[in-house]
Amino acid sequence: MTDTTDQLVQNYKYRRDIMAVLLVVTFLGGTIFSIINFYRGLWPLATIELSYGLFSLWLLSRIKTTAHFQRWVSIYIVPFFVIMIYGLSLPQSSESIFVWILTIPVISYLLLGRKRGFWYSVVFIVCGIMSYHWRFMSVEQQISLNLAISANVVLSAALMMAFAHVYERTREENEARLLSLAGTDPLTGLANRMKLNEGFQQLSALASRHKAPLTVVLFDLDLFKTINDVHGHSVGDDALRHVATFLRENTRKTDLLARFGGEEFALLMVATSLENGFNQVDELRKKLLSTPFTTASCDIKITLSAGLSTYGADGEELNQLLNKADKRLYYAKENGRNQVIAHDDEAMQ
Ligand code: GH3
Ligand code: MG
Ligand code: MG
Repeated sequence: MTDTTDQLVQNYKYRRDIMAVLLVVTFLGGTIFSIINFYRGLWPLATIELSYGLFSLWLLSRIKTTAHFQRWVSIYIVPFFVIMIYGLSLPQSSESIFVWILTIPVISYLLLGRKRGFWYSVVFIVCGIMSYHWRFMSVEQQISLNLAISANVVLSAALMMAFAHVYERTREENEARLLSLAGTDPLTGLANRMKLNEGFQQLSALASRHKAPLTVVLFDLDLFKTINDVHGHSVGDDALRHVATFLRENTRKTDLLARFGGEEFALLMVATSLENGFNQVDELRKKLLSTPFTTASCDIKITLSAGLSTYGADGEELNQLLNKADKRLYYAKENGRNQVIAHDDEAMQ
């Protein structure tokens, strides 16, 4: 992954911070409550709380760096909620303990995300409310009072869950939008160089695994500066969008098309040999000739030159492959433009 994507994908950093706070609170709470409950004669609960507090302290030392963050969160959170519900069900424990039910959705959503957060919330809130209700049903109290208490707990827990759900969904959508923007060229809407690098990592790994060819193409529009000089920069921009749309519509969805630079485009052709790639790109070149860019006052004929290279024979890194393709593209330019070159000529070596 590139640095930019690394910075955008938060890699659970904020979740690690939340988890660290929770572990400190659990350690302190576990220790304090174990002492209180020990003196109240609830020694099984006291023992569980003390063990869990010590486990939290140990986990605190690893949580910022562990590669298995999600797994450790699950290992931590399930006993956390189980102990909470067990405490809730004990007739000797304080009545105010029910407020802990409200922490279930917040903790679940913040640490586990929307999908898992939803299921953990539903399961443990229902268990918590049932256990609380059962506890008060077991002592002689008015049914109406019990129902009022349960209704309060159910409604406030549902409200917390709805807030957490909306918050987490919005956060996920914003993260996805930011990631997509970071990988998109604003002028043409094609992938940018960052996305090309990322895409190459995935496609080259697949090509290696399936022993399939992967062809890299570098396009450069011919004498594009003239279009800017004659028609103005804004028409030049429209011409670039025209070519981008043309390339997008005439390449496969499974291939990765990117704007590489000013008037340069790159294409990763999946499962395509150098020969097949050459034939397809040459067809593209011919088709562009008959697809001029139409303005209000005239048709502008745009041509392209392209250089190709192939994964494996020409290198295994994207930079090597682009350099090779660029060399062949340069040769195409030197030899009159509007052509595609896929092999080294003797003159190039
Ligand atoms: P060649 O056939 O040798 O590639 O000639 P060229 O004129 O296309 O090449 P050169 O690299 O000299 O010029 C590329 C031009 O593309 C220069 C620059 O003004 C133009 N260009 C690059 N990016 C943009 C852009 O975003 N919008 C517009 N309108 N023009 C751009
Ligand atoms: Mg250029
Ligand atoms: Mg050019």
